Amino acid sequence: MIEFRQVSKKYTQNVTALSDITLSVNKGELVFLAGPSGAGKSTLLKMIAAMERPTEGTVIVSGHDIGRIKNSGLPYLRRNLGLIFQQQRLLSDRNVLANVMLPLIVCGASRSDAERRARAALDKVGLLDKASSAPQTLSGGEQQRVSIARAIVNRPQIILADEPTANLDRESANKVLDALKAFHAVGVTCLISTHDEQFLDTATRVIYLDHGKIIESWRRTTPQVMA
Ligand code: ADP
Ligand code: ADP
Repeated sequence: MIEFRQVSKKYTQNVTALSDITLSVNKGELVFLAGPSGAGKSTLLKMIAAMERPTEGTVIVSGHDIGRIKNSGLPYLRRNLGLIFQQQRLLSDRNVLANVMLPLIVCGASRSDAERRARAALDKVGLLDKASSAPQTLSGGEQQRVSIARAIVNRPQIILADEPTANLDRESANKVLDALKAFHAVGVTCLISTHDEQFLDTATRVIYLDHGKIIESWRRTTPQVMA
């Protein structure tokens, strides 16, 4: 579903964010991207969404070559992706429900259909009772779960989450991860970056980056025990 072949990314002559990355992610996998700040995790995620293009090598997402995709093709690619990035803040001028409805409205869904699906998405992240609240009145962890609801409301096949648990206490962070894992459980491919090693204990696949290189990568084949 996602393939990197000898991918490098230089932002400038002196800044190599990724170098010679080769990896593939199968449909339905849950992959953690680990490594210190500056390792290249968010650059890697951005390339999957064609927010950055490779300097060298090839990135294939759902059969599309990201380096060659035209700007006119970007909406089609992104419709298939649920993005949870720091820079995509919730809008403070409308309530939680309206924030989650927005991607559907943009795609031309009717209000009633958008509202029904947004409520279903909020229910899945456990925040239906906050539908009418202003986003800024929610805790950081709750806001992050609203972002997840907004990201998945279009039923994307792939979720990309860049440090979704940053700045959250342990309990809130666990809730955010559980919300992401619930979508993985129904077949959505998930890539989650984190510099927090504690989340990797229950992971089935982890790719460690440092200085733009994969320094370690493993898959656990033993099935996870359901909680
Ligand atoms: P991480 O997500 O692991 O913290 P990033 O992918 O954000 O790592 O950054 C990798 C490297 O690329 C860092 O050295 C960072 O400073 C640099 N970098 C990231 N984005 C840009 C940019 N837009 N322009 C220049 N350098 C960048
Ligand atoms: P719908 O009538 O829209 O199918 P559902 O109750 O089946 O409503 O799903 C509720 C929400 O679950 C969807 O609106 C969507 O936000 C979210 N979702 C996203 N991806 C998936 C998926 N692959 N499988 C199940 N639910 C998903």
